[in-house]
Amino acid sequence: MMKADATMQPHAGPSSKSDQTAMSNQPGGQSGDGIPGEPVLPEVLVNVVTPAQPVVGRVIESTLCTRGRKASGFVRHVAIDVSGTKLAGSFRAGQAFGVVPPGVDERGKPHKLRLYSIASPTSGEDGQGQVIATTVKRTLDEHWETHRLLTGVASNYLCDLSVGDEVQMTGPSGKRFLLPVAPEQHDYVFFATGTGIAPFRGMIKELLASKVASRIVLVMGVPYTTDLLYDEDLRRWTEQHPNFTYLTAISRDPGPDGAGSGYVQDRLVTHREQLEPMLRSLRTLVYVCGIAGMEVGLIRALAEHYDNEVVSQYVRVNPEAGPWSQWDRRVIGRSVRATGRLLLEVY
Ligand SMILES: Cc1cc2nc3c(=O)[nH]c(=O)nc-3n(C[C@H](O)[C@H](O)[C@H](O)COP(=O)(O)OP(=O)(O)OC[C@H]3O[C@@H](n4cnc5c(N)ncnc54)[C@H](O)[C@@H]3O)c2cc1C
Repeated sequence: MMKADATMQPHAGPSSKSDQTAMSNQPGGQSGDGIPGEPVLPEVLVNVVTPAQPVVGRVIESTLCTRGRKASGFVRHVAIDVSGTKLAGSFRAGQAFGVVPPGVDERGKPHKLRLYSIASPTSGEDGQGQVIATTVKRTLDEHWETHRLLTGVASNYLCDLSVGDEVQMTGPSGKRFLLPVAPEQHDYVFFATGTGIAPFRGMIKELLASKVASRIVLVMGVPYTTDLLYDEDLRRWTEQHPNFTYLTAISRDPGPDGAGSGYVQDRLVTHREQLEPMLRSLRTLVYVCGIAGMEVGLIRALAEHYDNEVVSQYVRVNPEAGPWSQWDRRVIGRSVRATGRLLLEVY
């Protein structure tokens, strides 16, 4: 959990699970690696609202955001009105907020807060920074020991809320997973799996609204076509904005776009013609968000299919890492480090 101090912080120190691994961005942005094209990230407010004194937001929308009701998971777009609280106007696209579920855990202690990515642009869902949305997936599983149904506390609490219900919130959190100060100076490749789309929905909305000429590619990975999130919106955006490209990577069926089944990293090969010039360009920033471990497949694929001139722009590889074919999560965690041009948020 984060430290409870409300400060303006320019990406200094770990802010989320992903920041705490070796496979993370070093604090310091532009000065970190001296990689050409490194972005300057904005200063952001963090922990304006702490778990000790959460604020109360009110749900104003809760809708399924999968492509079909036959999706393999239940994912909801939940929008919360935070007007009149310290969260209003204090967040930026890419940050997260905390949800404090009511009740106590099995040890009788109040439930701990869980983080949810803000799926809205910096101006919020309402254009005034008063409404925050997120994209939340119900955690449903079978308990490892009892075999009973395990329903995740916070995700199911959030998904069960109806319009008008109150929710205790904290935040914002996160200092590094942000759009740069000068967005027009960069092009963007966003890789999402599942609810990893949340921060990208906000960022892409913000970029498109600002009318930057930057090229923006989103690669969205889910198991089945019916699991695609915000699919209709994203397709509409591609029609409205020629600089925005939406690619899907469906791992367990052929997918809707004739690209064949595959994982997000497979698009580095199938869409090489489009992605290679971008990845080679010093303007490009690569953002990765979603299931922990997705970065392993992506980094391996980059190293397997692209030359060192490209790879070295996004990762620093220590010699002990050995050849890419031996890179697993442990090797990458220890010996491969993201440069300031590769921004990661995995959970
Ligand atoms: C920066 C950040 C951003 C995030 N953004 C989002 C987002 O936008 N959308 C989203 O949906 N999630 C997001 N998450 C994940 C979110 O915070 C929660 O972790 C997730 O929703 C699960 O929380 P829960 O309370 O529902 O489940 P929990 O009640 O916390 O249950 C999960 C826990 O239960 C235990 N468990 C799980 N399965 C089993 C099993 N089969 N048997 C026994 N024990 C088990 C494990 O200990 C596991 O940690 C984000 C996380 C981070 C760190």
